[in-house]
Amino acid sequence: MLRRMEVYLLEIPLNEPFRISSGTSTRSTNIVIRLVDANGNEGWGEASPSRRVLNETLDTVKATLKNLFPKVKELECTDIEKLYELMMETPDSPSAKAALDFAFFDLYGKEISKPVYKLLGGYRESIETDITIGIMEPEEQAKRALKFVAQGFRSLKIKLGIDPKKDIERIKAIRDAVGYDIILRVDANQGWSVNEAIYVIDKLADYEVELVEQPIRWDDLKGLRRVRKESSIPIAADESVKTPSDAIKVIEADAVDIINIKLMKSRGIWGALKIASISEAAGIKNMIGCMGESRIGITAGVHVAQGLKNIMIYDLDSDLLLKEDVVIEGGASIEQGVRRAGSDSGLGIKNVRKEMLTQISVLK
Ligand code: MG
Repeated sequence: MLRRMEVYLLEIPLNEPFRISSGTSTRSTNIVIRLVDANGNEGWGEASPSRRVLNETLDTVKATLKNLFPKVKELECTDIEKLYELMMETPDSPSAKAALDFAFFDLYGKEISKPVYKLLGGYRESIETDITIGIMEPEEQAKRALKFVAQGFRSLKIKLGIDPKKDIERIKAIRDAVGYDIILRVDANQGWSVNEAIYVIDKLADYEVELVEQPIRWDDLKGLRRVRKESSIPIAADESVKTPSDAIKVIEADAVDIINIKLMKSRGIWGALKIASISEAAGIKNMIGCMGESRIGITAGVHVAQGLKNIMIYDLDSDLLLKEDVVIEGGASIEQGVRRAGSDSGLGIKNVRKEMLTQISVLK
C-alpha cells in the first residue's frame, strides 16, 4: 500500500549541446517521483520522456502518473506483474511507467534488504559503460574522443547519420586519434537510407567498429534485414524495439544481431526482463542504453545491467553528459568507465539535492 506519490520536475543543462541525426538538445527535462509506502519507506523513480521515439511530452508523463496512481496505490511493492499489467492497459507515456516501476523495485529491495540487481539475477558486480559523442565536425569528435579516453573510458559511442561521406571521415578521425585499443560503436539514429547504410557500414568495417545501432528508420524491418545481410558489422535495433512484442518482430524479420533495451521504452525493469528473456532465447545479445536520465534513472539501468547475463553491452552515460548530479549520496558509481550499483538495499539512492527538484504535485 502506498501512502503518497510526490512528483517533481528536474531540469539539468547538458555540459555542451548534444546533436544526433534528428535534432540537438541542450538540457534534460525529466520527471522524478518519490513514492512513500505505508511503512514510511521511500521509492525513487525517474521518467525521461522522448517526443521523438515515444511520442511523449512532460504533460503526457504527468497525466499518465495521475491516471495510474489511484490504481497502483493499493498494490504491494512486490506486486510487480500486476503493476505491469495495469501499465500495459494503456499506450500512453512509457517513461512515466518506467518511473513507477523503478520506485516499486526500490521499495521491494528495501523491504527484503537486497540491492535490486540481486533480485534480478545478480549476475555481475560491475559493468563498463561507453560514453557518447554527439555529431560534430570530425576533428571535434576526435578531440572529444581523446578527452574521454584520458578520463579512462575504453568504449566510445559515436553519433552519425547526417551525411554518409562525412560520417566515414568522422570514424576515421576518431580511430586515428584513439588507436585500436578503444572500442568504437556507432549510432545513426535512423539517419541513413538502406543504400546509404550499406555503403557507410562497408567503409566503417576498415576501422573496427563493434556495432551499428539503428542505421535506418525504425519501421522498415525488411530494409534492416537487408542492411544486416550486406554488412560485416553487427546491427543493433534501438528505436525499432520498445516492447516485448517488438522484440519478437525484429527477431522474426531476422533483422538484427543485438537489441538495445532502454528502460524508458520498456516501461521499466519488468518490461526489460521480458525483452531480455525473448532475446536470450533467440540467441540475440542485449545492449542497455538510456534516454536523458539523471543518475536516479541511470542507477536503475546499472542494476538491470548487473542482474542479467544476456545484457552484454553498456551505454549508460546520460548522467555523465549533464552539468549537475541530482544524487548526493548513493546510487550507481562511476570510475574510469566502470559502474557499480553498490550493495545498498533497493536502488541505493540515499539522498538527493532537493533544491534541484521543483514539486509539481503530491498524489494521495
Ligand atoms: Mg540509439
